[in-house]
Amino acid sequence: MEIKSIHTNTFQSPLKTPFKTALRTVHNLEDIVIIIECKNGMLGYGEGSPTAVITGETLGTMREAIEYISGFLIGLNIQSDFDDIINIIHTKLLHNTTAKSALEIAIYDLISKYHNKPLFSFLGGDKMSFDTDITVSLNDIDKMIDDSINAVKLGYDTLKIKLGNDAKKDTNRIIEIYNALPKNITLRLDANQGWNVEQTIGIMQQIENLNIFPQLLEQPIKADNIDGLKQIRDKIKTPILADEAVFSLSQAKYILETKSADFLNIKLAKCGGISEALKIAKLAQDYNVKCMMGCMLEGPIGIVASLHVVSAMSDTITMIDLDAVALLANEPKNCSVIFDESHITLSKNSGLGITY
Ligand SMILES: [Mg+2]
Repeated sequence: MEIKSIHTNTFQSPLKTPFKTALRTVHNLEDIVIIIECKNGMLGYGEGSPTAVITGETLGTMREAIEYISGFLIGLNIQSDFDDIINIIHTKLLHNTTAKSALEIAIYDLISKYHNKPLFSFLGGDKMSFDTDITVSLNDIDKMIDDSINAVKLGYDTLKIKLGNDAKKDTNRIIEIYNALPKNITLRLDANQGWNVEQTIGIMQQIENLNIFPQLLEQPIKADNIDGLKQIRDKIKTPILADEAVFSLSQAKYILETKSADFLNIKLAKCGGISEALKIAKLAQDYNVKCMMGCMLEGPIGIVASLHVVSAMSDTITMIDLDAVALLANEPKNCSVIFDESHITLSKNSGLGITY
């Protein structure tokens, strides 16, 4: 199954409501879809959403990176050159992790179609249905309370609360949202690097003294301050989830060895795709550390690819933050995967189960 051509398209969708974190505000999704065509006519699909403030990529750099790497892939054979293809994607160009991930997704779509299996079963998994949390964007407190209550009405039992622009307001946000929700709702907090070490310890000790215990606190401080994460971890009871601090396998290894976080957030766009995500999850498994599978604000192909990886590593990737499709105003097309708010069910079709 020889690679004949690799094309990119732009996937666009308005959002139901603006997506706001401590790092950015987004009104419309625009990302890159890759279509790899083989000589036998088989098509593989991949996707990635450039997140300039996290991975350093834009739509333009992604197109360039994909075109550059594609030059080394044309003519190679999906099944007999599979390991070489993955190696080329990761060694011909540094960084550009979202572009690499999008390419890898399309390659994995094709190899599992070649084996006539859904990707999850090609990867050794069998779990097909999943529950995701949903993000509550960073807004004024009343809006965040309304959004949280509405999410619970839609059936979500786990909310990811975006914080990180003002320590005092953030403390009130946590307390008031907690007080407004039924007590069976799980809260995840994500400050997106917006606090410093002292602020984080202060905020968390204050809410813990009120007997508010979120499931986890995600990336409260700057990505490169791993020592700071460890200091925080020693001072608070709420588990710490490393997100922007862990892109690569080597960063994951450092965090695991130094016990600087309780959990790791794996995203295909950060690590460079499915092969690296599997390596990080397997390493975390060796350390008996659980992971979250997260996403960028991206389209359905990227989300579905992430779920196939969760299925393959479901004992280790126990937390799912793959709500991006639920945030889009448009329903996914050409898709045998079922998206029903928090519930997502993969299909038994070969490959990803979704096209563009
Ligand atoms: Mg995060």
